Amino acid sequence: MIQRNPTRPVKIGNITIGQGHPIAVQSMCATPTTDINATLGQLRSLEKAGADIIRIAADNKKDAAALIQLRDETDAVLSVDLQENYRLAEVLAPHVDKIRYNPGHLYHHERKKPWKEKVAYLADIAVKHDCAMRVGVNAGSVDPDKAARYADDDSIIPMVESALEHSDWLDHLGYTRYCVSLKDSDPAKTVDAYLRFAEVRPDIPLHLGVTEAGIPPMGVEKTRIAFEQLIGKGIGDTIRVSLTLPYERKYEEIEAGRGILDDINAGRVRTVVHFNADRLNLISCPSCSRVENEAFIDLAHKVQERTSWAEQHAVTIAVMGCRVNGPGETDDADLGLWCGPNYVNLKRQGEKVGAFKYDEILDRLDQELKQLVSNGQ
Ligand code: SF4
Repeated sequence: MIQRNPTRPVKIGNITIGQGHPIAVQSMCATPTTDINATLGQLRSLEKAGADIIRIAADNKKDAAALIQLRDETDAVLSVDLQENYRLAEVLAPHVDKIRYNPGHLYHHERKKPWKEKVAYLADIAVKHDCAMRVGVNAGSVDPDKAARYADDDSIIPMVESALEHSDWLDHLGYTRYCVSLKDSDPAKTVDAYLRFAEVRPDIPLHLGVTEAGIPPMGVEKTRIAFEQLIGKGIGDTIRVSLTLPYERKYEEIEAGRGILDDINAGRVRTVVHFNADRLNLISCPSCSRVENEAFIDLAHKVQERTSWAEQHAVTIAVMGCRVNGPGETDDADLGLWCGPNYVNLKRQGEKVGAFKYDEILDRLDQELKQLVSNGQ
């Protein structure tokens, strides 16, 4: 029997995480939020698969209006992902059970306003509308002020510091109905970040996830490695497995999450800490409403097929679904792709190579990969 950390309870709609409650399994709609039929279809399939919480992104007022419409169609426990537009909280809090904000995205709007004021505003809205919150820190989008204080290759400490700072401030404000996540695309770094945070704040419920884990089965395995290490140590109150899947298969994130939890509970675990550090590592985002061309999902799968010849080489390839987070999220990859409506951008070791049509990008990627490999990568 795993001894769970003594986290405080956080009520999210009709479920509670923390304080020994069952670990909640969640997912996120990847369809454009404004496509009501598609998003409702995805919501229903996630609900059917047993999702405890379903997250939907809102970037603008049109998304917000769509989310309000979706609320009327479902009893699911809903979380809104505020992405860059934190002021949408006041529009959406009356209609959702939880608000997710990313400390690294708060600066995008009202740049002169201190982050503490923005968080106080969010906490105030959450209290007024009976909402929980998640402080969702991500290695690819850490608060730039925080990141600037540390070495470029240190993605973990800025994440942990940011999460601790926001937690302290929320507590200071008297708002404790929140959980925290600290996601990296590398399972080992993810484990490190959560362990460091939980050591200081074992009382705060944690949402576990490996961001951009990629395509199954590899993406599930990366996540499993991290979850085994963390849940086995009593860390984790809710989980999400972030997989790159076609819209109609998104529910597999829930099945994968439940499968991992069942295996951990039954003791079917392994003790791998490193994830094939000296082999080809494909990272791809789980997609969300920001994807401008659904061909991204197919592309991620084709990248996996096309690059399989390089499996024995330590190269990291990142494939991201949008132009908003894609450029930043591919910074640490040897080859990074991020998708626009008609073109796919390609970056090699931090330098932009160019933008290529969807039917050209695989050849160019292969060419760049061959060069990297012949240079001894
Ligand atoms: S990279 Fe873009 S499309 Fe992919 S999950 Fe992140 S925001 Fe969504």
